[in-house]
Amino acid sequence: MLKIAFDRNYIYPLEKDHRFPMVKYELIPEQLLREGTCTEDNFFIPKILSEDDALKTHDKSYYNRLCNLNLTKKEERPIGFPMSKELVYRERRIARGTIECCDFSLKYGVSLNIAGGTHHAFYDRGEAFCMLNDQAIAANVLLANGRGIDKILIIDLDVHQGNGTASIFKNSSDVFTLSFHGKNNYPFRKESSDLDIEFDDDTDDDFYLKKLKKHLPEVIEKFEPNFIFYLSGVDVLSNDKLGKLGLSLRGCKERDRFVLDICKKNKIPLQISMGGGYSSNLKDIIEAHSNTFRLAQELFF
Ligand SMILES: [Zn+2]
Repeated sequence: MLKIAFDRNYIYPLEKDHRFPMVKYELIPEQLLREGTCTEDNFFIPKILSEDDALKTHDKSYYNRLCNLNLTKKEERPIGFPMSKELVYRERRIARGTIECCDFSLKYGVSLNIAGGTHHAFYDRGEAFCMLNDQAIAANVLLANGRGIDKILIIDLDVHQGNGTASIFKNSSDVFTLSFHGKNNYPFRKESSDLDIEFDDDTDDDFYLKKLKKHLPEVIEKFEPNFIFYLSGVDVLSNDKLGKLGLSLRGCKERDRFVLDICKKNKIPLQISMGGGYSSNLKDIIEAHSNTFRLAQELFF
């Protein structure tokens, strides 16, 4: 059965004109239920991230100061959220959601988190709406728990480079980081992933998909991962306010289909976190994210 991590706590009230589209975390599950892609049974409420699991990836001092709201102003500013206990609690629940997803991925082949994809969170700092790196945390939990998972691929197709993830795993031979992103986009100082594919502004479906269909099979064949994380950010859409690329809704869905399909064909368990999506048209964000869930149902169940 398709299992999806979600809790009402994912929806945190921000001031009205805040540019983070918090409302999508309410609208995606609503859409999936309304159209019948999912029933209530598909959703599960994750617990809260434990300190033990957090510290497999993050610095103890940073983590504790984050949880106690003791970050300096200089540390808080790049994160871009008004900090509060509830917001950190939300972040911890989302990270735990990605960990719990992994069990379902091992059982059913795929699972998704309605949120997550906080790939700009580094070992000891956060930025760009990311405080704790959910997929990095879950990858390190998987590696530590002795279930035979020892080669993990993180496919990051959010339009922004997964700089935190790349940095966290830069010296790891157990985790391969693959990032497709806009060359002229944030972060302007890029980290080195194991493989970075950069795109010029306005890159279209055909060019993007050609690159994906070339590089992803090559990486899977060479690295032979036995678990895959996919960050399916939809800020690659042409009308995204922050994206700069030129993908259509159809191209974005084709992208997801290719990733899900290759994991299914190779029998590699797959966890998916949502990542960014900042289109001026909220309907497009919801449609593009919903496509990822529809494909998971269609291809795996
Ligand atoms: Zn992004």
